[in-house]
Amino acid sequence: MTNVSKDALVQELVSIVGKEWVVTEREYMLSYLQDETPEPVRPKAANNLILVKPSSTGEVSKILRAANQARVPVFPVGGRTGLVSACVPTIPGIILSLERMKKLEVDRENLMVVAEAGVTLGDLLRACDEAGLFFPPHPGDEGAQVGGLIATNAGGVRAVKYGVMRNYVKGVEVVLASGKVLNLGGKLIKDNAGYSLLHLVIGSEGTLCVITKAIIKLHPKSEHSVTIIVPFSGRHEALQAVQKILLSGVVPLAIEYVEPDEVNLSAAHLNEKWPVQVGGAQLFIILNAESEEELLVSCEKVSGVCSEIGAGEPVLAETREEQDRVLRIRSNIYTALKPQLIDILDVTVPPSKLGDLMDAVEEIAEKYGVHLPVYGHAGDGNLHVHVMKEEGKAPDYVAKVKSEIYETGIRLGGVITGEHGVGAIRTQELTKATDEAELNLMQGIKKLFDPNNILNPGKVIT
Ligand SMILES: Cc1cc2nc3c(=O)[nH]c(=O)nc-3n(C[C@H](O)[C@H](O)[C@H](O)COP(=O)(O)OP(=O)(O)OC[C@H]3O[C@@H](n4cnc5c(N)ncnc54)[C@H](O)[C@@H]3O)c2cc1C
Repeated sequence: MTNVSKDALVQELVSIVGKEWVVTEREYMLSYLQDETPEPVRPKAANNLILVKPSSTGEVSKILRAANQARVPVFPVGGRTGLVSACVPTIPGIILSLERMKKLEVDRENLMVVAEAGVTLGDLLRACDEAGLFFPPHPGDEGAQVGGLIATNAGGVRAVKYGVMRNYVKGVEVVLASGKVLNLGGKLIKDNAGYSLLHLVIGSEGTLCVITKAIIKLHPKSEHSVTIIVPFSGRHEALQAVQKILLSGVVPLAIEYVEPDEVNLSAAHLNEKWPVQVGGAQLFIILNAESEEELLVSCEKVSGVCSEIGAGEPVLAETREEQDRVLRIRSNIYTALKPQLIDILDVTVPPSKLGDLMDAVEEIAEKYGVHLPVYGHAGDGNLHVHVMKEEGKAPDYVAKVKSEIYETGIRLGGVITGEHGVGAIRTQELTKATDEAELNLMQGIKKLFDPNNILNPGKVIT
């Protein structure tokens, strides 16, 4: 701690939130010191940390004002489900958890929900469902919180039809590093009043301000949906089908690419069974519609397109329970791979280039004699490549493999990350992949929002 003793700061924090909500003993804050980033690439959390849990925007404001005056770093955390250590407190400072801020109000008239930052994705989905409304973004871990979903501009499997968080956040209440509370946007479908600071905040990974509340757009719930799992002889056929489905006029909620080994591993990990055991590659497609008839037409269209390419018999999950079950298996591939994982990459290319990216990944795997399991959001050109531990192999392959995959992604017109973000572990890659003028603008913006660099230092741009 720089301009203030730790004891004095703790006293001040206690006076703001109460003794019960300030934690200084490391053993009681262990789960706040890491996220879901694989252990081999996760940075170590610093010593000398204070965990604070405010219950209101006013308290967040007082905490930031005190931290800013004392030049003490503040690390906002959500559900700690991130995959790039964006919330890991890598230097001494304050861990700011908004988990007590969980108020949520559905506004059916405007098809919106107003949610505090600590509301979990699971709670948000349930509240919308009970109100007959639908919140589409679904990153795999429902323990993520509204603040984290916005700060990472999360995506997930359902982005093909409805897009990512950015398409849903209409307003935010934020607290600046100075403690000033600001409302950006509102319950508005259109807003062209000046530069969009709202869209700067979305995806800013806790480096510009603390998000305390959000206004999020919803859709009416469509009662009819089906999940189709289609087996193909191999990757090329599966990816050819993705293009044809997108051109057919049907817009699926999700088009996911999976391979049998990984999806079976995930099913076994959950004590479940994946329903399709044929094909070298499979597509997992979710369709929704306003009526049974419309759903049937879309389903037949998708099946027809796939069978023209020589796909095997599709398997349908029709009930809500079956659909939730297969989605859970798909969402847990990461968790199943994690014990052997070194890093999960998230390179995104134009959808038509996904096949080229996958071919290159296969060549890189052969070149270095390593196994690189892949799956991903095929409809979005967003591929998750897993760099795995390799028994008896010198670890220098890791940096080379990653660097070649990033270079390939960029050569194909893509970006180093499509949804997981930069966090603490991709800052060098961002610098390498970004034009100097663009980086300078980003640094200037950071300085304007947070002149003393107290907000999540060491993340995104350094
Ligand atoms: C199994 C699994 C599957 C996943 N699948 C996907 C996927 O499909 N798509 C996807 O996009 N992501 C996915 N993720 C990643 C992760 O779930 C998302 O990035 C999620 O949005 C993170 O939310 P969180 O609340 O856990 O944030 P954290 O991990 O706690 O924090 C993430 C970032 O947000 C900042 N932050 C948190 N709260 C606030 C706040 N109130 N104000 C300002 N900044 C804040 C933190 O400082 C940090 O920079 C997956 C993760 C797992 C474990």
